[in-house]
Amino acid sequence: MEYRELGSSGKKVSLLSFGGMRIPRVTVGKAVEVIKKACHLGINYFETAPGYGNSEHKIGVALRDLDRSKVYLSTKSHPGQDQKPEQLRNRLESSLKKLETDYVDFYQIWGLNTEEHYETVFKKGGTFEAVRKAQNEGLIKHIGFTSHGYPAFIQRLMETREFESLTMIYHLYHQRNKGLLDLADKLNMGVMIIAPLSNGFLAHPTPLMEEDFAPYPVRDYALQWLANDKRITSIVSGMKTFKELQNNYDSLNNFLYFDKTKTDIENKAFAKLRDRVGKDFCTECRECLPCPQGINIPELMRLNNLMRGYDAVYYCRDRYRFTGQGGSWYPGVKASHCDDCGDCEPRCPEKLPVVSIIRGLHQELYAGDRKSLATHQISEI
Ligand code: SF4
Ligand code: SF4
Repeated sequence: MEYRELGSSGKKVSLLSFGGMRIPRVTVGKAVEVIKKACHLGINYFETAPGYGNSEHKIGVALRDLDRSKVYLSTKSHPGQDQKPEQLRNRLESSLKKLETDYVDFYQIWGLNTEEHYETVFKKGGTFEAVRKAQNEGLIKHIGFTSHGYPAFIQRLMETREFESLTMIYHLYHQRNKGLLDLADKLNMGVMIIAPLSNGFLAHPTPLMEEDFAPYPVRDYALQWLANDKRITSIVSGMKTFKELQNNYDSLNNFLYFDKTKTDIENKAFAKLRDRVGKDFCTECRECLPCPQGINIPELMRLNNLMRGYDAVYYCRDRYRFTGQGGSWYPGVKASHCDDCGDCEPRCPEKLPVVSIIRGLHQELYAGDRKSLATHQISEI
């Protein structure tokens, strides 16, 4: 297992990290076994959150038999829930109790997605003061944030220079945050990647996608593609079974940095995708934003690429259901909110008929709204 420096923290973390969001789905005994096995395989970064059901408790139980000094723990506070310093402090103390430890190595402002969240955290008397206080008391060693916001907003958070790491979504088919990697490198921030397999989409690819990446399994390619980028510190994968753990470990342990054969595969696969989508292919350049109705046009166009290019009906339908239903965790509203204002199309360098594409997509994908989401479900978006 490779280990990389996590920004300025002075800590070296394993290339594969353990995401604790899925362990609430298995028994305490099973979760503990999987966590111990992960440690045994060399994983040293374990992340969890108060909103992940009983995940903190299960990690705490596993820790009883592990060397605490060799494990880096990360847990979180969400500004939508903890709006006052005393609420954050209570949340932190509750996390420490459940984790059966007297400090966490990395504490994350979790889901720092909106201006309102920013205000809650950074205003005078805001929750960040409680985070710094806890750090001065030794309850927290290092501070990071996670965000599902737009890249410009994440950049602003990074430029506060209050954080040693950021945690964000980034994978082969979701590259909107790519531009932030150079900035993280420049600011010496650790970069933790979540949803590396796009919530299972790349672990269970469609036949067309499989064909394009052959002879490499898409799962291996997608994880190694991330690992190949040294600006990325670690890949966080939610795991609850030995099989999931072993699959991820096998993909990343002793992986070889990409040579031309590997990059050719990727170039050919993207060229095939582009061919299949044809004249409606969106480059996700984001020039069409802002939409006055709050439609996240590039995200809907990304889904359109995957629908036309890979026949990814199940995945796209699932993602589209979150649109307008996932709160700040999934920015944007459904295409049915379009009022034909005409702002977006003249801004598109590809001259795409944006309105007809997203309306067609809505017709195809809309199958009713989701019920409201519990926090532990939102965390998996
Ligand atoms: S035409 Fe529709 S999608 Fe385009 S900017 Fe206006 S409201 Fe948004
Ligand atoms: S401007 Fe055009 S190509 Fe760029 S993200 Fe918007 S729709 Fe896609």
